[in-house]
Amino acid sequence: MNTVTRPRILVVGAGFAGVECVRRLERKLSPDEADVTLVTPFAYQLYLPLLPQVASGVLTPQSIAVSLRRSKKYRTRIIPGGAIGVDLKSKVCVIRTITDEIVNEPYDYIVLAPGSITRTFDIPGLTDHAFGMKTLAEAAYIRDHVISQLDLADASQDPVERASRLQFVVVGGGYAGTETAACLQRLTHAAVKRYPRLDPSLIKWHLIDIAPKLMPELGDKLGSSAQEILRRRGIDISLGTSIAKAGPEEVTFTDGRVIPTRTLIWTAGVVASPLIATLGAETVKGRLSVAPEMNLPGDDGVFALGDSAAVPDLAKGDGAMCPPTAQHALRQGRHVADNVIASLRGQAMKPYVHKDLGLVVDLGGTDAVSKPLGIELRGLPAQAVARGYHWSALRTNVAKTRVMTNWLLNAVAGDDFVRTGFQARKAARLKDFEYTDAYLTPEQVRERVEGSGGPE
Ligand SMILES: Cc1cc2nc3c(=O)[nH]c(=O)nc-3n(C[C@H](O)[C@H](O)[C@H](O)COP(=O)(O)OP(=O)(O)OC[C@H]3O[C@@H](n4cnc5c(N)ncnc54)[C@H](O)[C@@H]3O)c2cc1C
Repeated sequence: MNTVTRPRILVVGAGFAGVECVRRLERKLSPDEADVTLVTPFAYQLYLPLLPQVASGVLTPQSIAVSLRRSKKYRTRIIPGGAIGVDLKSKVCVIRTITDEIVNEPYDYIVLAPGSITRTFDIPGLTDHAFGMKTLAEAAYIRDHVISQLDLADASQDPVERASRLQFVVVGGGYAGTETAACLQRLTHAAVKRYPRLDPSLIKWHLIDIAPKLMPELGDKLGSSAQEILRRRGIDISLGTSIAKAGPEEVTFTDGRVIPTRTLIWTAGVVASPLIATLGAETVKGRLSVAPEMNLPGDDGVFALGDSAAVPDLAKGDGAMCPPTAQHALRQGRHVADNVIASLRGQAMKPYVHKDLGLVVDLGGTDAVSKPLGIELRGLPAQAVARGYHWSALRTNVAKTRVMTNWLLNAVAGDDFVRTGFQARKAARLKDFEYTDAYLTPEQVRERVEGSGGPE
């Protein structure tokens, strides 16, 4: 078979958008119609919405890492690495493999789905002292870190040290931050019973946000219910507040309060992957500006979707763009595959339209608030909808079984609060987990592509 004449489709990123796209391409294209290649640093698709449950130990990390090699039917070639630049003119993607080799991968069609990274601001000490909640390693690390604070506070005779180890700050009142604070507070609340020398009242969780409301997309009534649940559980919520300064042992809030803490979790929004900036193309708030068909106008064969693209939200209208959610990313993944195939076969592409189905927020245990299809739910019904939704959205039956078994096991046997000692001696923070400094500038991409004689 002559592989050179077949169009080459390169998909960047194996998240919700990328994996859905690849699976659909595999299903709908015959093997001799096109070669499909996927670039991804990891061998799994991460089910991000359940990350707070990994941090709190309800789920094991493996349960939300869905294998990319589960079936023999999966015929896509996988390059283990990350794209660090794209040269649209030469149609070459520059990739750093997991062994740090830099390779040029030529393509005819490229689907950009590298997702997003944690959005940070120019706040002194922030990137050096904050953790994010975006990767599996981060979630596992935070769990170890929180348990080690209890261990160290328990061993310490110094009341000042104890106080700083037993206070925890989460910044970001969106669903990621709220779920993280809620799930981790449940962890420390349950764990402290195993530390008879520690006074439980010293443990304090702070959830802060610069906005006047938590999760405004839930609406006033449901947002207040979520706030009420968290306050009842002793989480201190400060709205209209952010961080002025972060240090190794304390955090200063913008309202002047200085909180002794060694745990700052930053979940104040996301920005598109730095890969997008390497294209030198038009962006909207950092996301690649694409047409409703998710292609880049003026550049043949370039598509972008998910958190990294500004896809017009036609269901909402008024120039809105789709929010960065898994709900949109996975549907866009399927849709973009259809558009790539249409373009390959010389057919018309279709615009992406999806009406938001609502939001589910799991606050741990039986606490939850959900708004499926506009219906406001609280408590057990909300929790059933939240878990049912996530469970059904997991892609493989093995992942579904792992998650369900973990939920049942946790409900029956609880947690053992084991600290694994994972990276215990080397502090790792936001920038270490998200590899934000790995990317090339548009000029470096050009140099790299031209220097190696252009596309092969
Ligand atoms: C804690 C948390 C809770 C959330 N809860 C919800 C929820 O309840 N409901 C909801 O709808 N959404 C939720 N989201 C948002 C949702 O997870 C994202 O919108 C969704 O993952 C976006 O899909 P994506 O495919 O664009 O990106 P991702 O799913 O993030 O996938 C991007 C992939 O690209 C890979 N990648 C990154 N850079 C490169 C590169 N340079 N080269 C190659 N590969 C690369 C990454 O490793 C990753 O595999 C939550 C997010 C978080 C963090």
